[in-house]
Amino acid sequence: MLSEEIKNFGIVGYPVGHSLSPKIYMAAFASGGYPKYNYIPMPMPAGRLMLVVDGVKDLEFRGINVTIPHKTNIMKYLDAIDPDAKIIGAVNTIVNDGGMLTGYNTDVTGFLASLTEADFLAEDCNAVILGAGGVARAAIWGLCKRNAGCITIGARNPEKAANLAKDFEQYSDILVYDWQAEEFKEILQSADILINATPLGMYPNLDEMPPVDLTLLPEGALVYDIIYNPAKTKFLQKAEELGFKTLNGLSMLLRQGEEAYRLFTGELPDLDIMRRVALQELKVLQRKIDKEKEKTTIQ
Ligand code: NAP
Repeated sequence: MLSEEIKNFGIVGYPVGHSLSPKIYMAAFASGGYPKYNYIPMPMPAGRLMLVVDGVKDLEFRGINVTIPHKTNIMKYLDAIDPDAKIIGAVNTIVNDGGMLTGYNTDVTGFLASLTEADFLAEDCNAVILGAGGVARAAIWGLCKRNAGCITIGARNPEKAANLAKDFEQYSDILVYDWQAEEFKEILQSADILINATPLGMYPNLDEMPPVDLTLLPEGALVYDIIYNPAKTKFLQKAEELGFKTLNGLSMLLRQGEEAYRLFTGELPDLDIMRRVALQELKVLQRKIDKEKEKTTIQ
């Protein structure tokens, strides 16, 4: 039995070396009065998930976060799944109550909180999402919960996106387009919010961005890139140059972490401390990016 004051947490994924979570949670636990809580990065290749579940129970982990590529596959090993996670089809947080493992998806809470932080009212809005992966699913469910007016997915693989849309058809009509199709341009012209939910532009692929023409967006649209590393992707740089309001993925990352912390401890963390630590870590990464850029310019 672990002593009352020691509890173990961690993040499972593959890879997890780049994750900001260990530093963010350790700082949050320390400032929340839990200096003996541990949060460990746990790289685990696909196909070995049963080991994770047994480990969480046997080693008395209070909870873990789950990231790519395990968010969906881990669900079958859990004892209970929260309704949001069931609808989204992915779990990113597991809480262990004396051997009973419950899966949650805090990305949806994080996504909605990030919209609120940005003063964006999703009700009745025209939302356009680029990509049809895990984060797109959480964002779409969030927009359904907030009664968005119209949700459109633009993707490189419209067939896959159509399958996603089908999963949500009982909650909202979702339009699907090839993001390079002419008709998609019309959709962009009436978007209140354009969300990049692909990894295009994420470190180290800084020169990439989704192939959409931002000049088509109406004045006042919010351009949201769910990527937080780098803080300003090429997609956001272009949007800013065109005068649009922009939002990066840091707020969602912190807010989903805040919700996971609440599920783990029953208390809210100090979000300012989490933000400070995340920004420090991102600064270190940014320095690395700048150094690499310098090197390539010299060569
Ligand atoms: P995912 O499940 O792998 O989905 C990625 C989506 O992007 C898929 O639709 C995929 O298309 C598309 N895509 C990937 N590479 C592409 C390329 N080269 N060209 C065109 N489309 C491409 O990933 P995810 O979990 O949704 O994560 C997406 C991004 O969100 C990542 O950058 C991740 O770091 C970020 N993220 C942020 C937060 C946060 O809190 N801010 C949380 C989680 C994730 P196909 O379907 O055709 O493969």
